[in-house]
Amino acid sequence: MITSIPSPLSLPIHQVFHGAGHQSVVVGGWMRHVGSERDVNGTDEDIATSATPEQVRALFASRPSFAVASNNGESHGTQLVLLDGKPFEVSTFRRDVACDGRHAKVVWTNDLVTDLSRRDFTCNAIAYDPIDDQVIDPFKGLADLRRKVVRAVGDPYRRLQEDWLRLLRAPRMAMDIGGQVESGLERAIRQNAGELSQVSAERRRDELLKMLGYADGWYAPVTLAELDLLCSLLPSLDSQRGHGLRSEHPHDLDLFERGVMRACGARLAGSDQGQARLRLMAYYAEMTLTSTASDLRGLCCANRLVDSVLRIAAFYRDIPRDGSWHARSAPRDQREFLLQVARHTPEAKMAAVVEQLISLRLAEGGFNPAPLRKAAREPLYRGQLQVDGNDVLSLGIPPGPGVGRVLASLLRVGPGASRGSQLAQLSVLVKEARNASNST
Ligand code: ATP
Ligand code: MG
Repeated sequence: MITSIPSPLSLPIHQVFHGAGHQSVVVGGWMRHVGSERDVNGTDEDIATSATPEQVRALFASRPSFAVASNNGESHGTQLVLLDGKPFEVSTFRRDVACDGRHAKVVWTNDLVTDLSRRDFTCNAIAYDPIDDQVIDPFKGLADLRRKVVRAVGDPYRRLQEDWLRLLRAPRMAMDIGGQVESGLERAIRQNAGELSQVSAERRRDELLKMLGYADGWYAPVTLAELDLLCSLLPSLDSQRGHGLRSEHPHDLDLFERGVMRACGARLAGSDQGQARLRLMAYYAEMTLTSTASDLRGLCCANRLVDSVLRIAAFYRDIPRDGSWHARSAPRDQREFLLQVARHTPEAKMAAVVEQLISLRLAEGGFNPAPLRKAAREPLYRGQLQVDGNDVLSLGIPPGPGVGRVLASLLRVGPGASRGSQLAQLSVLVKEARNASNST
């Protein structure tokens, strides 16, 4: 029994439905959170109702404070009802009449239990009616949540066959509740793991990214590999298991295990999406650019995500492991490294990229980030300098490509932040440039 259920933000929507004689309930992730006694703050409230899509539109389209927007689920009876601008997904109770593993043909029903019975797992087949303050739990999802078990509603083989995405949703739900996939369902997943490739890349991607964003999401690729699912998601990463460094140095971790170690330790403040991205970076930091791009593009990941992971894969290995950045010559090496990264990074993103690289390297241990952070605080782009070509000319360098070369050298040495220190460095560099040209 749940001790107390918070009032959902969507309560006014339920009041409208009930006032018009329809049933409506909160389902999905919000209910899973309530059932496992977690904070529901920020969790989407999915709504299911006996009202047909036309009735939903008629009820909310012209009512003050509400609006209805279509989303791409509309053909399946899902619409967005906006309450003071905040969107809630509202789906009409439904029953499957045919499924082919990817698409379901559905008809509307006004029976809530019929609707709940087509949902994938018992922990996702719980509903809450906030008007009657009643929990509807025909498949004992609350008991499974207490035991932290993800169990299919009905026969696991048949339920997986109806929609192969459930192969992936089961471990995602297990990760979300910090629990396990029930053994019968787990067996069915292993036996059918290959069918995951039938599911569209976009649907696989969305599940993977949600999984990676959870508190324990660093472990997601390990769980997926154990269920034989990783090869249908991130094949190049999967192929690194048991290969790579270990074959040369038997006591070292292999490339996949190093990724696990980094993903476990790397942390940056920010959203779940940011955390998911950092974990992908952790796994791909030592992979080749070709395999990184092929895995992420194969899942139709957004270009921005692919580019940010590729950037890390391009530069991470240049951070030395042997402590050489603690040596006296190190500031120069670190500036060279940072300038190289900056050449491939928009200025607005550079600080974040440096923190990502540091966070990943710190997760491997034996690294002092202070000198790199210090070097990154000084200008890395021409536009950030407090001096310009006129200052170079006024030091006697003739107009031409030499001016740009002097400014580039100024960025390399680490010019300091103030105009005074940059002018001082500049005159040293100009003197050096003159001496060099005199001696040739
Ligand atoms: P989250 O919001 O954290 O992603 P969720 O459980 O709400 O988790 P949604 O994708 O929003 O996931 O789906 C809402 C609900 O719809 C689920 O809880 C489940 O009851 C049902 N559902 C979603 N996808 C499927 C599916 N492939 N098969 C069966 N039921 C599903
Ligand atoms: Mg949801």
